[in-house]
Amino acid sequence: MAAGRAAERGISVLLLEKMEKPLRKLRISGKGRGNITNSKPIEEFLQKIHPCSSFMRPAFSLFFNTHLVKFMNRIGVRTVEERGGRVFPASQRAWDVACALQGWAQRTGVETLCHARVTDVVRGKSGLFTVTFDQKGAKRTAQSAKLLLATGGLSYPATGSTGDGYTFAQKLGHSLTPLRPSLTPIEVAGFSRYGFDDVQMRNVKASAAADGKIIAEEFGELMLTTFGVCGPIILRMSRSIVDALRAQREVKLLLDWKPALSKQQLKNRLKRELQGSSIPNVGALLRKLMPAPLIPFFAEQAELQARAKVGKGSEAKIVDTLKSCALQVCGYRPFSEAIITAGGVSLGEVDESAMQSKLAPGLYFAGELLDLDGDTGGYNLQIAFSTGWLAGEAMARELRAES
Ligand SMILES: Cc1cc2nc3c(=O)[nH]c(=O)nc-3n(C[C@H](O)[C@H](O)[C@H](O)COP(=O)(O)OP(=O)(O)OC[C@H]3O[C@@H](n4cnc5c(N)ncnc54)[C@H](O)[C@@H]3O)c2cc1C
Repeated sequence: MAAGRAAERGISVLLLEKMEKPLRKLRISGKGRGNITNSKPIEEFLQKIHPCSSFMRPAFSLFFNTHLVKFMNRIGVRTVEERGGRVFPASQRAWDVACALQGWAQRTGVETLCHARVTDVVRGKSGLFTVTFDQKGAKRTAQSAKLLLATGGLSYPATGSTGDGYTFAQKLGHSLTPLRPSLTPIEVAGFSRYGFDDVQMRNVKASAAADGKIIAEEFGELMLTTFGVCGPIILRMSRSIVDALRAQREVKLLLDWKPALSKQQLKNRLKRELQGSSIPNVGALLRKLMPAPLIPFFAEQAELQARAKVGKGSEAKIVDTLKSCALQVCGYRPFSEAIITAGGVSLGEVDESAMQSKLAPGLYFAGELLDLDGDTGGYNLQIAFSTGWLAGEAMARELRAES
């Protein structure tokens, strides 16, 4: 986006991409459907961005969600809006977005070199940048007056983002805030013994508590898996959970499996089930309330035997566990499974009106490399597109002013 915008403004641009083609992560985004932005109004949108959403105001005032949709239409990508304001390409193929962006960049005159892994970046006394890159085993260099680092974060390294840009940013004088996986699945103690194979549960209310204090709450869909829990509501809470675990706090996940029903309503429901048909044991009663793979786990949580007869006190235990099931969180999944990297180039060292370094003039940043991360819902790609557009625009403006 930055390269195309700068070239569109008449600047000569060289784009170095270490993989066989650019935009690999975009191609797999949104489960291959590419949730490219969200239609939420700006104030609501900003609430989904961490840790300092106000940094994004200048970029969004230049290029926000409506601009992105118009731009996509201009380059031949029609869009559709889905539940929660999430915007996708109408073709439902993120791949089409990537191809359209690549085609546009090419038409604007961007020279793209693939298999070109940048290995070093130096800023000379003259202010010019010398970039060393390895292309299919050959060591090459390029010089430029302006340099944009848009190397992404550390998540899903197979897409090409292996964190190289952090090293270059540090070498050029920048500091980093701690890098950690975010929008990542959560590990639960002892879960492996249940052998869950992605058991999906809808309409669950989940809260995360650190040292007894609620730090995040969500309602929606989650999945129980071999190591713990994942799915939309878990990913949304993961940022707070990861930070609490890193701060050595004790984290519990509190699940209300039936948030729409009060304890009394659940008691009545169980009574009806027990009166209506012959229920041989606790497991059979639980089967009326949940998918079969959940029963051994749930019975254990409620301190009941699935094969035992429904005895005195079983109903109360089931109701209590349905309304409040506490799981001990013991970890989180690594960068390779995280949608996003939280932390990055310190925002205080970057001028948000141009995405330019305050420490090394001529150096620019865009995207996930910065200490910015959004929730799920199209926020992260919009951050990348908006910061890229602004950086491209600003680099072109500066160069024209200097020439
Ligand atoms: C599975 C998955 C699904 C996602 N789905 C969505 C979604 O639906 N909506 C959403 O908003 N966000 C989504 N995201 C997040 C979003 O894709 C990223 O935040 C976004 O791609 C970041 O863009 P970027 O340009 O900063 O970095 P990247 O897209 O990671 O691009 C960085 C590029 O730099 C290249 N590079 C790195 N180092 C070097 C080097 N040394 N030399 C040359 N090139 C280098 C890489 O090869 C890569 O092409 C998803 C992420 C993942 C992992």
